[in-house]
Amino acid sequence: MAKKIISVTVKTKCADIITTKSDLVAVAVFSGEVKPDPLCRQIDKKLGGAISNLMEMGDFKAKAHTTAVLYTDGKIAAKRVLLIGMGERAKSSSDSFRDAAAIAADRSVGLKAATVTLAFHAQMPSGVGEEIAGQILAEGIHYGAYRFDEFKTDKENGRLDKLTAVIVDGKAGNVKGLAKGVKVGVVTGQAQMYARTIANQPGNVINPGTLAAAAKKMAAGVPGLSCKVYDEKQLKQIKAGGILAVGGGSATGPRMIVLKYKAKSAKAPTVGLVGKAVTFDSGGIDIKGAAGMDEMKFDKSGGIAVLGAMQAIAKLKPAVNVYGIIPSAENMPGGRSYRPGDIVTTMSGKTVEILNTDAEGRMILCDGIDYAVKNKCDTIIDIATLTGSCVVALGKYMAGLMSNDDGLLKDMQAASSRSGEKVWHLPCTDDYLEDMKSKVADLRNAGTTRWGGASMAAAFLREFAAGRKWAHIDMAGMEIFAGHKNIGCDGSPGFGVRLLTDYVMNVAK
Ligand SMILES: [Zn+2]
Repeated sequence: MAKKIISVTVKTKCADIITTKSDLVAVAVFSGEVKPDPLCRQIDKKLGGAISNLMEMGDFKAKAHTTAVLYTDGKIAAKRVLLIGMGERAKSSSDSFRDAAAIAADRSVGLKAATVTLAFHAQMPSGVGEEIAGQILAEGIHYGAYRFDEFKTDKENGRLDKLTAVIVDGKAGNVKGLAKGVKVGVVTGQAQMYARTIANQPGNVINPGTLAAAAKKMAAGVPGLSCKVYDEKQLKQIKAGGILAVGGGSATGPRMIVLKYKAKSAKAPTVGLVGKAVTFDSGGIDIKGAAGMDEMKFDKSGGIAVLGAMQAIAKLKPAVNVYGIIPSAENMPGGRSYRPGDIVTTMSGKTVEILNTDAEGRMILCDGIDYAVKNKCDTIIDIATLTGSCVVALGKYMAGLMSNDDGLLKDMQAASSRSGEKVWHLPCTDDYLEDMKSKVADLRNAGTTRWGGASMAAAFLREFAAGRKWAHIDMAGMEIFAGHKNIGCDGSPGFGVRLLTDYVMNVAK
């Protein structure tokens, strides 16, 4: 029997944290501070100076992402104290606190502590109100508690099935604000956990057909969210030539999943989120090398980000209509595969000469974007693990962001800074389109040079947005290097769920 995702509950409580019972109390400590914060000082006193000793001995310097555990022997209501290093206070941001909450949950799961209390929202930078603080902490707690262990049959070192986190504050007014934010954070946190689980599942479990079935199942459980799946036959009827070409070589045929959330007001704007879901990318006829090919199960992560975001959006009910469009294919070599040199007629009618079958993401995304155009989306945002070039440019810390509209660019940057999912603006001007023009078709799917590959791919996609407001997120580096912060488990971080949800929630404002 497969293990289930850890069930996480986040609560708020008006109480004194010193007298609140729990298996673990998490305390945030900034480095280089002579006098740690009041809560830390209070606990230190109760424990007979144990925290001061630890710091004086140099065993815990409060560097960012470091921790130390102390046992309280009944001197306070919590059984353990987890000190979480925050680094320098001057460099801390709301992201540091989301990370701290994730670390608290991560260590709680590791220590089999079923309840964790925290109160470090009080130390957040000025300007972060209780509501935002509650959301950030709830998101972090879900993130850190997540484990991908459904395929481990070993019961030894097993973990608990549940974690309850309680955010404690002595003032009723503060608790009210925190609780409001927690409600939102629980929704996005759970959506991100869901997305990570699907993204982590390998190619022999998730293929276009099983992904579509999972999407249908998810949508059926969320009131207000509908799901339509186009199978191979229906994709032929709507002339989705790009998706059909890429998916042709696989024994499990391609699909297009269309999720829809409808706002109450008829006048609401419509946003189309388009995510690439290549469930496994071998490269096709232009097959990849063996090294790291296992990571190509993550080539569906853009589509999964859209799936997770749609779950969160439908639960949060913004005044925006939203399409979640997920073209999905498995890119395999075989007798029915598309070939280099082929000329493919995409759903838009534009023709594309195939120069490299491994540049398949743009071939399915262009049909997804065209579908958004045909369904009258005012704004279209696509997200994909698209190019190695983007990883070369930005490394493991940020995803590339390209757009044809300055306003949308700013809105996406704001969503990025609020959600803590980092993007960096890269160009996609006409210069980059030049090398994507073909002599025998309208476009070609790969340039003749490697230079500026992320921008060339974006310029290609821009051609299908038909002048609508459009942005493109190249998240290739986010999945491969997900474990770089050493919080929780390796594998997919569910990048994009918070970013897209935040963007849509703020369109409505
Ligand atoms: Zn590829």
